[in-house]
Amino acid sequence: MSRYLSDKYQSLEAYTPGEQPRDMRYVKLNTNESPYPPAPGVMEAAAKEAARAQLYSDPVCADLRDALAQRYGMKRANVFVSNGSDDILNFAFMAFAGGDVPAYFPDISYGFYSVYAALHGIQARPVPLKEDFSIDPADYMNLGGFIVIANPNAPTGMALTRDQVERIVAANPEHVVLIDEAYVDFGAESCLPLVEKYDNLLVVQTFSKSRGLAGARLGFAIAREGVIADLERIKYSTNPYSVNRMTLAAGVASLARDDYNADNCRRIVKTREATVEQLRVLGFEVLPSLANFVFARKPGVDGGWLYRELKARGVLVRHFDSPRIADFLRITIGAEQEMAVLMLKLKEILSET
Ligand SMILES: *Cc1c(COP(=O)(O)O)cnc(C)c1O
Repeated sequence: MSRYLSDKYQSLEAYTPGEQPRDMRYVKLNTNESPYPPAPGVMEAAAKEAARAQLYSDPVCADLRDALAQRYGMKRANVFVSNGSDDILNFAFMAFAGGDVPAYFPDISYGFYSVYAALHGIQARPVPLKEDFSIDPADYMNLGGFIVIANPNAPTGMALTRDQVERIVAANPEHVVLIDEAYVDFGAESCLPLVEKYDNLLVVQTFSKSRGLAGARLGFAIAREGVIADLERIKYSTNPYSVNRMTLAAGVASLARDDYNADNCRRIVKTREATVEQLRVLGFEVLPSLANFVFARKPGVDGGWLYRELKARGVLVRHFDSPRIADFLRITIGAEQEMAVLMLKLKEILSET
């Protein structure tokens, strides 16, 4: 029992973020950050706003929403921004599930989904992935609840096609289907072109991964006006200034140089393909990833043990303790030289045993 905490939160289990250790310098491949700095101009734009930090930020976020609308061929009313896409996911669970409306999501996916369900007293209905760790759209027909799917999924990296997502969205017209596209810029098909066709589709993206702004905290969502207005209602009922002025300016500056961001994504994809090949040569089974990470296991080798051996040698990856995936490591795709260190250490560890 926690002495002062409300009864409704006594059994709440919080999300565990990937470690951000300060004890030594690691090759950090555990939280899917970009190995590359933000776009040119981002730092200057943010610094300019820092000089005016005595003033509240724009609650409408007009400039950034207009820049996103232009980038994706939408209107401002179709765009929502907040303090990281985690913030938007939280708002979406509040807005579109609860009471009689359960939340459906894959049993192996982004860990925050079940936390948000628990936080808001929403019934969570995990939908098992298939044996090969893929999502079967047939499992998501007419579910009668809010649906959340990360595409590509985390931590598998595996993606549905836009047509597969469309089948799910079309089969659940009474409820919102949220597609979490945190990793979509690394090769998967975005569902943004479906937004004009479906009232119930909510696409969520982030500046954290493909635009190298994880520390700035900036996420956005695109949907028809009604769904965006619902999210605005929740935001204005919690914190109208959820995006600070430095980050608003950083977002606009980053979009102005989306060519730079796209180049970095191409580089990461190239590094990913090389990494997959090298891991397979070492005997790893690697799931087909369209994200900036790979999910891999070596038959006969304990995932937790390998994670600890790598950490002891200065390479940090992510390991999840849940049964079906306990032998896997989730490895962020870093810069070429970081992946070279990973391979070296893996060879060292495997040759010693
Ligand atoms: C990283 C991640 C997020 C959170 O992104 P932020 O914008 O940094 O809050 C959301 N969903 C998935 C699947 C992620 O991997």
